[in-house]
Amino acid sequence: MSDIDARRRKAKERIDAISADLRQVSLSIHENPETNWQEHHAHKVLTGYLEAEGFHVERGAFGMETAFRAVAGQGGPVIAVMCEYDALPGIGHACGHNLIAISGLAAAAGMLAGLEPGEGTVVVLGSPAEEGGHGKVYLVERGAFEGVDAAMMLHPGPGDNAWANVVAIHEVKLEYRGRNAHAAAAPWEGVNALDAVVMAFNGVNALRQQIKPTDKVHGVITHGGLRPNIIPDFTSADFYVRARNMAELEVLKERVVGCFEGAAMATGCSLTLAWEPRATSDMLNNDIMAGAYAEHMMTLGVRTPSKERGMRYPAGSTDMGNVSYALPAIHPHFGIPTPSGNHTPGFTAAAATPEAHENTLRAAKGMALTGLDLFLREGVLESAVKEFRERRGK
Ligand SMILES: [Zn+2]
Ligand SMILES: [Zn+2]
Repeated sequence: MSDIDARRRKAKERIDAISADLRQVSLSIHENPETNWQEHHAHKVLTGYLEAEGFHVERGAFGMETAFRAVAGQGGPVIAVMCEYDALPGIGHACGHNLIAISGLAAAAGMLAGLEPGEGTVVVLGSPAEEGGHGKVYLVERGAFEGVDAAMMLHPGPGDNAWANVVAIHEVKLEYRGRNAHAAAAPWEGVNALDAVVMAFNGVNALRQQIKPTDKVHGVITHGGLRPNIIPDFTSADFYVRARNMAELEVLKERVVGCFEGAAMATGCSLTLAWEPRATSDMLNNDIMAGAYAEHMMTLGVRTPSKERGMRYPAGSTDMGNVSYALPAIHPHFGIPTPSGNHTPGFTAAAATPEAHENTLRAAKGMALTGLDLFLREGVLESAVKEFRERRGK
């Protein structure tokens, strides 16, 4: 057996050895779902685990109460794995971030087991608020990736994919203000904020025919009035605007805002727009790293689609996109048995099953082996960095 094979075996054995502990961590987070920026229980459980494993742990890192940074090993290269652990309102861990959390712990432990002292440093970054809030955007801005050579994370879903088709997103809240009036006795005295929000949706719906197939706009009315006999003086809505990249997102945003403003003008209402402080970008999937992950998954019995097919999978958005513009990065998806897709109660239940746990550890092995390639195999990290520089330079 060659040296690299022995290192890989150690990594996989270590992940198997901690499976029962990781299962407890995963279920503890799953049973205590916390939404964006409120992940105090998960933060406590994960940092406690890492500290017990010998990591140097910084809690509340980078000015975010529920972020953390945990470091082990010595010297370069420095490879980071990301943990997410926020849930969704009302439906718990319907995106399976409890599994993402333990995939980061497992991959870090696996990489460390495969390294000799002085061969490199493993960083585990706890990134809060992926489901609205964009924790990783702040990690990037506040220097979490300085001195880090590459970053990786995994995400559960209905299927496996080494590449992630990620589109840029910016979220906005709108509020229309008009004037109350008796809807039957004196409607001419009213300024109807419900009409304004309905016209905003109709405007966006008319716009749809003239936007690119890769553009997406979707909204919900969050306040629509109180009683039919009171002309509403206040309504509000949340919209997500998505496009293939940041440049196309700016173009689309301007057109969508035109629909919102037109509705205000037509009804005589005033309009307030509150954009999220940051947009998140599309993703530069590092092909060297994604290719390595795909090859390792094959040895673990999972065939992932080719890049060409993988990049045609339905697109979503993630703050990992911003990370991918800061350093070489990947965000593979791994399949778990589930009756329905992410963000459904069926997926919440699926994220707690023993089968999902096994698949998480298998993917974490793929990520750990990809990390060992970056640490130990000559030229792999250099190629990943070269590719990153060339593509980001475009
Ligand atoms: Zn999600
Ligand atoms: Zn998610």
